[in-house]
Amino acid sequence: MNDTSASRSFDFDLFVIGAGSGGVRAGRLAASMGARVAIAEDRYMGGTCVNVGCVPKKLYVYASEYAKGFKDAEGFGWQVGTPAFCWATLRDNKKVEISRLNAIYQQLLENPGAKVLDGRAHIHSANTVEVNGQRYTAERILLATGTWPFVPSFTGSEHMLTSNEIFDLDVFPQRLLIVGGGYIATEFAGIFNGLGSRVIQIYRGDLFMRGFDDDVRYFLAEEVRKTGVDLRFNTNPTSIHKTEVGYVVTMDDGSVVEADAILCATGRQPHIAGLNLEDTDVTFTKQGFIQVDEHFRTHDPSIFALGDLIGGPQLTPVALEEGMAFAKRQFGHQEASVDYQYIPTAVFSQPNVGTVGFTEHEARAKFEKISIYRSEFKPMKHTLSGRNERSLMKLIVDSVTDRVVGLHMVGPDAGEILQGMAIAMRSGATKADFDRTIGIHPTAAEEFVTMREPLST
Ligand code: NDP
Repeated sequence: MNDTSASRSFDFDLFVIGAGSGGVRAGRLAASMGARVAIAEDRYMGGTCVNVGCVPKKLYVYASEYAKGFKDAEGFGWQVGTPAFCWATLRDNKKVEISRLNAIYQQLLENPGAKVLDGRAHIHSANTVEVNGQRYTAERILLATGTWPFVPSFTGSEHMLTSNEIFDLDVFPQRLLIVGGGYIATEFAGIFNGLGSRVIQIYRGDLFMRGFDDDVRYFLAEEVRKTGVDLRFNTNPTSIHKTEVGYVVTMDDGSVVEADAILCATGRQPHIAGLNLEDTDVTFTKQGFIQVDEHFRTHDPSIFALGDLIGGPQLTPVALEEGMAFAKRQFGHQEASVDYQYIPTAVFSQPNVGTVGFTEHEARAKFEKISIYRSEFKPMKHTLSGRNERSLMKLIVDSVTDRVVGLHMVGPDAGEILQGMAIAMRSGATKADFDRTIGIHPTAAEEFVTMREPLST
């Protein structure tokens, strides 16, 4: 690492603000390369992903899927009786696991020698950060404070919960209204529906999951409705009133819904309040995210930013990759950068969605000619379970090069299946490569290598 006399005149070589996925990865890697690193966090180690995001969400998805499992089991000869669910057990077991992970994150930083500061940091002046009234100088400051739930403002909107609170409710909501049609709204609709709530999910537009392939969006809507979620489009709340037993929510189409709790999942905004960026040269995108170049440099020479804060895909593995590229470049003298093409993603809705590459709509605009392969089927398990769930798989191929440029799935384990597919896609696999690949039988994933006839386009 760069041990110049200039860097030695600072207290630290790197001061990271925010111990989430991106900040921890950058900080611990920089420290392991010999940099003198401090990292400040005022809330919880591990950030959104560990505390109120990916990790507890997946645990709750597992919990909710048992409901279907109990029903499915009967078709396979099991007599299950009437299962009962205890919210407090799930919530408190989750808390124990998250505390374990918090401690691991602390260790990950302290083992290579990073100094962890418990407090809210703000930028005091050039190269200077203040935490709990104490000032620290650093050659580089890295902003990694992530995003925070956005809650629209209307009468009574303060009664809505966000993903920050929903995991730790004291009382399980028997009737839950979910506002939003993206990742969080759809994942929580599946979770609480599975755990036994009566769930209404409302979305302001014609069809939820904007940005995903249209086939996926239509198909998922149908499947989600089959599970019992009351999914309503073209409606949005205009007012919420608290009553003695819950909340009355009035929609812009005049309809009224009563609920015990309301989850607002209408996107996330950069978490920059109080950082004092006004006194720096940091600039912002039109959407309010921090503007950086490909090496995470802001417009202020000593300040860098990465993760959800910079307006790219708000995904933990992307923040990790950015943290790694930043540390390697700044402290390891390596030409590291992040390639944002063909990033796979999964929505842990029920059923799951997995996607990598272009949607059909995007591919039609980008490529001269494309071929579409599509398969829809009942998963083998449901021949005996009796469940009426179906799966969808779709391949989009650039007809000129034969490269598979889009791959989409709705169905069980889509996230697991898509990870391997993403390697093939990044490696430039053609449809002929898919066709040459021998399937694993009997699996759902084999469908991706056995789709022979394109749809007429
Ligand atoms: P999303 O951007 O996925 O969805 C936001 C939803 O809220 C959209 O349906 C949007 O509608 C709607 N919306 C926005 N503003 C309003 C408004 N004023 N009134 C009503 N509806 C509104 O955000 P999420 O909050 O669900 O999640 C944030 C991010 O976190 C995701 O984008 C994703 O990157 C990440 N995440 C990833 C997960 C995973 O990897 N499995 C899981 C959870 C989150 P419209 O489409 O019309 O704009």
